[in-house]
Amino acid sequence: MTMSIHQYLCLTDNYGVLVHDSATGATACVDVPEAGPTLAALTERGWNLTDILITHHHADHIQGVPDLKAKFPEAKIWGPAKDKTRIPFLDRELKEGDTARVGSLGANVIETPGHTLGHIAYHFDEDDVAFCGDTLFSLGCGRVFETPHAVMWSSLMKLAALPGETRIYCGHEYTQANGRFAVTVEPGNPVLKARIEEVARLRAERRPTLPTTVAAELAANPFLRAEQPEIQAALGMAGAEPAAVFAELRGRKDRF
Ligand SMILES: [Zn+2]
Repeated sequence: MTMSIHQYLCLTDNYGVLVHDSATGATACVDVPEAGPTLAALTERGWNLTDILITHHHADHIQGVPDLKAKFPEAKIWGPAKDKTRIPFLDRELKEGDTARVGSLGANVIETPGHTLGHIAYHFDEDDVAFCGDTLFSLGCGRVFETPHAVMWSSLMKLAALPGETRIYCGHEYTQANGRFAVTVEPGNPVLKARIEEVARLRAERRPTLPTTVAAELAANPFLRAEQPEIQAALGMAGAEPAAVFAELRGRKDRF
């Protein structure tokens, strides 16, 4: 194992992440909400930026890229082929099943449309780590802006199918607010209750609640649990298609 990961806060609730390969010295950042904290994190670690991995086109994920590229002109910028017109500075355009390389580390690209049309996740399968941007959050998921809800549901199911031990890094620290909604649709889930208590403790100490894991989310995140009878009953949708239950959940969370 040669991968080290450093997660740091940007803006108010965004996360930036550095991925370092000790075998080659290569270092990537995943999304750039702002250049300052990313540069500070690189300096603090003594790491040299070689790659920038972009999950999606929203400003709070790419706006720091030009300043960062100015400091590290050799860094390669990887991102979704489907959004190349909205992320005009890509050096490498990625599609489903492609591999993004950070030194000796390899990330399998998973297309996860929904939050945006071109959204992708990076799964470093040998290291059991996935960077999911704004598709999957702990106890929640991204807002569905650019596809029908059924498409977002399919994207979430792709992430849910990763090995349970996979560590999931997300674009935002939203877990506590997500938990407040989750408990309204599945109040009888003891795993969810325990997670909400853990999150309250962590946030009281201003500590991150991320990364999470696939297994932890499958046990507590209502947006991955649309087939659960308690959730369906809470929505008055017993026996409904999971994608339809997901759409109702997402709509209620949007209005919560
Ligand atoms: Zn976004």
